[in-house]
Amino acid sequence: MNSFDFAEVKKILSTPKDIVIFGHRNPDGDAIGSTLGLMHYLNKYGHQVKVLYPSDYPANFGWMKGLDDVIIFDHDEALAARAIQKAEVAFFLDFNTLDRIDKMGEMVSEVDCVKINIDHHLDPDYFADYLWWNHEASSTCEMVYKFITELGDEDKIDKTIGECLFTGLITDTGSFKFSTNPDVYRICGNLKEIGVDDRLIQQRLFQNLDEKHLRILGQSLAHRMQIFPEYRTGLIYLSRKDFDLYNIQRGDTEGIVNYLLSLKDVRMAIFVTQQPNIIKLSLRSKGAFSVQEIATKYFNGGGHLNASGGYQHAGLGKTLDKIKAILPEYKEQLNDDSLFPE
Ligand code: 5GP
Ligand code: MN
Repeated sequence: MNSFDFAEVKKILSTPKDIVIFGHRNPDGDAIGSTLGLMHYLNKYGHQVKVLYPSDYPANFGWMKGLDDVIIFDHDEALAARAIQKAEVAFFLDFNTLDRIDKMGEMVSEVDCVKINIDHHLDPDYFADYLWWNHEASSTCEMVYKFITELGDEDKIDKTIGECLFTGLITDTGSFKFSTNPDVYRICGNLKEIGVDDRLIQQRLFQNLDEKHLRILGQSLAHRMQIFPEYRTGLIYLSRKDFDLYNIQRGDTEGIVNYLLSLKDVRMAIFVTQQPNIIKLSLRSKGAFSVQEIATKYFNGGGHLNASGGYQHAGLGKTLDKIKAILPEYKEQLNDDSLFPE
């Protein structure tokens, strides 16, 4: 954890301001939960707060309070630009390089506002005036809970804020399977105490699929999965044709990559999708094997040791070839049992 001047930030926030809060492209539960949770908290101080995402959010988050008022840059560039130009304070949550908010990164760089970055991914860029970075935190939602607490306002965390923060805590830990620490459970205990309905939130998040989601999963597992036993690696790819055939929208393929890691012999999982302009990669691993290194070195991306992502400006076939060409470099590590305690 690096030092972060909570007292200075508290002073900045002590008078009402125009504030923007950015979440990253393809926002996930932690990005949405942390940005909305912080928004609800800042609203209590009379700030004018706008939350901005570069691209739309998955439908299973639609129940979250405040989401209707989020500005989606892809939908309304002019509205996003106006909010950014007015900003006196900008928060950047759950990412640490400005390219993760696309064009809005350049736009906000030109605005003379106080920039505050709170994040738990590896290798931050130092673009903000205040960076609170802790790659050991489970989620940015955990950090926002602690941020509010550090400002002396734990009692201002109400059920609405709590629902937002619980969402990021449960999604970023894969329902408490990884990246947990004692504070995760303490915070969730506190949230349950103030009325957050953990069962209902899980139902909304995880028991809310359309029929097509299971059909996409079926297609992925039956026809688009490759296992490379010598590299202890599993791969699933979906082509443009699959996207059309199954009417796949943003967020519809969330979680598919994790099925590969349920195989006892697979230590690295790679999920590749052919999007309109790019090939998107999701990488996951077990043990001490770093997919963050692969995402950074080869795929313009980053993330965490065990969960990273990236992209390629190439065709699907070329990307799959590139992956297969890279695997031998990691053969030894992937077969080194000492990196994968059981
Ligand atoms: P996912 O595979 O679920 O899209 O992302 C897994 C992790 O990698 C997340 O923590 C996400 O923030 C990070 N990630 C995904 N795509 C990118 C990317 O294009 N660039 C960087 N730097 N990180 C990414
Ligand atoms: Mn996160």
